[in-house]
Amino acid sequence: MRTRFAPSPTGFLHVGGLRTALYAYLIAKQSKGEFILRIEDTDQERSVLGATEDILRTLHWAGIAPDEGVMLDQGKVSSKGAKGPYIQSQRLEVYQQYAKKLLDKGSAYRCFCSSERLGQMREDQQKRKEAPMYDRLCCSLSEEEVKKKVEADEPHVLRLKIPRSEKITFNDDIRGDLTFMGHTVDDQVLMKSDGFPTYHLAHVVDDHLMDIDIVIRGEEWLSSLPKHLLLFQELGFKPPRYAHVPLLLNADKTKLSKRQGDVATEEYINKGYLPEALVNFLALLGWNPGNKDEIFSMEELIDKFDIGRIQKSGAIFDTEKLDWLQGQWIRKISSQEFAERINPIVTEIYKEAESDPDFESKAVLIQDRLTFFNEAAEMMSFFYEEPKVTKELLINDKQKVSEEMLPNVLDALITTLESVDDKDWNEDGLKEVLFALAKDKGWKNGQILWPLRATLTGLPYSPGAFEVATVLGKEITLKRIRAISI
Ligand code: GLU
Repeated sequence: MRTRFAPSPTGFLHVGGLRTALYAYLIAKQSKGEFILRIEDTDQERSVLGATEDILRTLHWAGIAPDEGVMLDQGKVSSKGAKGPYIQSQRLEVYQQYAKKLLDKGSAYRCFCSSERLGQMREDQQKRKEAPMYDRLCCSLSEEEVKKKVEADEPHVLRLKIPRSEKITFNDDIRGDLTFMGHTVDDQVLMKSDGFPTYHLAHVVDDHLMDIDIVIRGEEWLSSLPKHLLLFQELGFKPPRYAHVPLLLNADKTKLSKRQGDVATEEYINKGYLPEALVNFLALLGWNPGNKDEIFSMEELIDKFDIGRIQKSGAIFDTEKLDWLQGQWIRKISSQEFAERINPIVTEIYKEAESDPDFESKAVLIQDRLTFFNEAAEMMSFFYEEPKVTKELLINDKQKVSEEMLPNVLDALITTLESVDDKDWNEDGLKEVLFALAKDKGWKNGQILWPLRATLTGLPYSPGAFEVATVLGKEITLKRIRAISI
């Protein structure tokens, strides 16, 4: 299968766009086909400088690399493939040639209406509660009149002449059988007065010339499908398969919007989400494997993804699920890789972390507890600086640690821990003596473990007392307990 992703370089890559790209990529890869990247920049006014680089960089981050078309080569936009150019603004002659073909065979006509006239017409239609549609004034111009206007260089566009009485039927891979009535379809502008094609003509020509087998795109294009099918027919091309993927929704089921959360993929990258987590999350937005499995690597997705299991209804963008997946993926990384990835973040604040021979054994303690790598420095602070321990932190209602009992607990901890041999200073050894201490004194385990953990870390949440004491060692552990004065 040859599939494509065809973004317009109008700004950031929307997470919905990334999902579309992912689905197209998976379908190409599972059939050992090609995933093509085409840049659709025919709307020059909306094109943003640098947007193509940003989109490509984001796709690269996500592990979605094009096999053909526009791609990054050492950070620079370049392209590869025999069916280029892959940037639409470099293909204007191709579109002009096909536009002429449509004009010559009477499938398209020139329209000279001014934007004022079109605006007025739309307004009147709205007042009459009619769907906005071109009234075909220019369709009735005689050949003679058209010739005169063209010779006088009157600005004009080219419109597709929709057969009003035609019934257009199609089968979409996701939506199933679809029927459109010709009289409900507007005479779409195909070429603008500036010589640029519209998306509608350009992508039909390109999908044909680039041998695309299946077009995966957002549902917002479904209503334009009849125009595209007619264009294929009038140009004598065989249409590809289509799969219109459902919209992404906010929790309140409205279309995913910036007002309710982030929609730019870059925001998720900046927040520290792992590409594995975001890709896994996006794959599951609108698709499921038919069982309860939820964790999928790219390879597993390539293997399991099935277009037949994409749902028709909109998919809720549930960031809690994303955070959960992020946690799952962080736990899946090996401890060595985890340590390598967080070391620069921790080093930024604690220089000594860079050459700390025990960094990995310290890092491992937070691997199960963190959601974002940028939390690492704070979560490991107590390994590199003396914690600030307050009375409020040491006292804990839930653990039944009262102010009155604290001095006794701390004294008992000092005495007990002083007696632990170096060879027993490990999680099991410490567990044994501290559980015995609690039993002996008639305290609950939490009544000694909470103050110990809080003393060693200065944090309300952290790895457990045994793990921290083991890594810190006997000397520092005792020093920190002795330093508490209440
Ligand atoms: N350039 C279009 C967009 O960015 C692509 C739609 C399509 O995939 O056909 O929305």
